Amino acid sequence: MAILVLGGAGYIGSHTVYELIDAGKDVVIADNLETGHVEAVHPKAVFYEGDIRDRAFVDSVFDRETIEGVIHFAANSLVGESMTDPLKYYDNNLCGTKVLLESMVAHGIDKIVFSSTAATYGEPERVPILETDPTEPTNCYGETKLSMEKMFKWTGRAHGLRFVSLRYFNACGAHVSGKIGEAHSPESHLIPLILQVPGGQREHISIFGDDYDTKDGTCVRDYIHVTDLAQAHILAMDYLMQGGESSIFNLGNGVGFTVKEVIDTARVVTGHPIPAEVAPRRDGDPAQLIASSEKAKNILGWKPKHADLKHIIETAWNWHKTHPKGFVKEK
Ligand code: UDP
Repeated sequence: MAILVLGGAGYIGSHTVYELIDAGKDVVIADNLETGHVEAVHPKAVFYEGDIRDRAFVDSVFDRETIEGVIHFAANSLVGESMTDPLKYYDNNLCGTKVLLESMVAHGIDKIVFSSTAATYGEPERVPILETDPTEPTNCYGETKLSMEKMFKWTGRAHGLRFVSLRYFNACGAHVSGKIGEAHSPESHLIPLILQVPGGQREHISIFGDDYDTKDGTCVRDYIHVTDLAQAHILAMDYLMQGGESSIFNLGNGVGFTVKEVIDTARVVTGHPIPAEVAPRRDGDPAQLIASSEKAKNILGWKPKHADLKHIIETAWNWHKTHPKGFVKEK
């Protein structure tokens, strides 16, 4: 019996596969390699290259492998792109999930752990954010993830499928082995962009707005290490295996850091002055996003082990300085 990881060649997917294999599980990966990297595929996992919108492909994986549960990361996830090309997000995220669920129902596979996002909440009315707080996404990416959660809910009611949706806050850091890490192209996330400065690929980091109503005027986010996220997927699958009912959990450290604090911490870690320049606000950025993860701690028994921001940035720096071009080999 194996766990099928859709999107297992991507950033959070590949880290989850590493944790599953360390925990002694059999893992099958399906990934279309549109944003994932074949180099991130764990050598002990069975790998299928294909797209979840392709019903014949998804059916063939379920026919050939004995799958006990699915962990679903296969989606587009760039906020800015989702605003300029929303139909791409409806096509991949929603149509892909529809095909996946049809195939799961046809094959009698009834457990799925889903990669969701804090972007389902939009501009929060309060922090820390609870799972029961209103969901009003301010971008199309968050909207499609929220719709995917609802697709699981209604499909579950009709066909007995159970799901866990994990709403991540700001995923960051890299595997402590230094073998895998974050490699987006183009990069849009704060920590890898900051580290491009000491990495010699960028002159300075832009701070998107310093006039927010926060302690230093810059946006506050809850940064959570990718390996801690990965662990939560394993706990969520165990929870479903033990008969747990469908549920939604936030995943964050419950502590907010401003953009300026993250830059200062990166200066300490790298020993580089990292020049920063204030730039206009980025469209759609809420001032503060901080998770309450009490539910995940109480019900799943989740305990983040890499919560310290300095340690998180150290793991990221260890990856980026040894892989300045991500998974592309240096010539
Ligand atoms: N940010 C920034 N400069 C950058 C990239 C990001 O100031 O070059 C800010 C962004 O406005 C947000 C925070 O850093 O407040 C985290 O952004 P990121 O894109 O990493 O994650 P998000 O919060 O959008 O999921």
